[in-house]
Amino acid sequence: MTIAITGATGQLGRLAIAELLKTVPAAQLVAVVRTPAKAADLAALGVQVRAGDYNDPAALDRALAGVERLLLISSSEVGQRAAQHRNAIDAAKRQKVKLIVYTSLLHADVSTLNLADEHRATEQMLAESGVPHTILRNGWYTENYASSIGAAVAHGTLIGSAGSGRIAAAARADYAAAAAKVASGPLAPVQRIYELAGDTAFTLADLAAEISRQTGKTIPYRDLPEADYAAALAGAGLPHWLAGALASWDIGASKGVLFDDSKQLSRLIGRATTPLATTVSAVLKKA
Ligand code: NAP
Repeated sequence: MTIAITGATGQLGRLAIAELLKTVPAAQLVAVVRTPAKAADLAALGVQVRAGDYNDPAALDRALAGVERLLLISSSEVGQRAAQHRNAIDAAKRQKVKLIVYTSLLHADVSTLNLADEHRATEQMLAESGVPHTILRNGWYTENYASSIGAAVAHGTLIGSAGSGRIAAAARADYAAAAAKVASGPLAPVQRIYELAGDTAFTLADLAAEISRQTGKTIPYRDLPEADYAAALAGAGLPHWLAGALASWDIGASKGVLFDDSKQLSRLIGRATTPLATTVSAVLKKA
């Protein structure tokens, strides 16, 4: 079997390749990347590195030639992703790929996050493609809070707009393990859609308590109205669009859109998901 991985030089892609290498020979893995020079370390491991920008259908055709399975890691170029994913799915179809595994968003079919539109569109394209596929609806990465944790330690308060919303985040490595397992598993998908999330949901007050516990400082959580949180983030130097997006995602979290308690992720990977404390500790060590 040959498995291609897009976004292979990204954070999730690298972790997924590391997981795949535990069970699949390197020569059977194809890292599809837009900048091959960034994947020299993967090539050194024996992974095939092929150029494949999502915006370049001909390059995607070349990258997917002879590939049996495709792990399509969603693009990070928000706003362009539907067209980019269409290019990847069309190329996979032309190259007769037998299974596409796509990383979507938790509860993408009903999610009110603005990020959900492109994932819904991609899921629809997959349904219409006729290519067998499995959709991994990934919840929030716990690492998304790395900057907030750093700022909380620096300023003595964790700020946000998520209220008492419960966030079932998991570490990137947990989602990567799931992606590797499904991409290298049975060709006929056992399950077509997985809702993947952390075993133990937390609120931002819980996150503040964990930061306090690990730093020995009292760092409370301060909930702000959406506009105030966006203004604080913009004031800290974030671009306005990103500050607004982050605040709107917190509002989504306050309404429960990042919550799931089905424990499909831990069942799929055969172990508990990474605890909040572990990710907080890793972030604090890096700071
Ligand atoms: P990441 O580190 O930003 O990686 C994104 C990957 O997409 C990179 O490898 C990047 O290539 C690649 N890419 C972007 N534009 C491309 C293009 N035009 N052609 C080919 N490749 C392109 O993100 P991540 O943390 O691994 O997350 C993976 C994906 O999950 C993201 O792309 C995003 O869709 C989604 N996401 C989910 C969450 C969550 O909490 N669940 C959070 C953030 C993102 P380069 O290496 O060349 O830049």
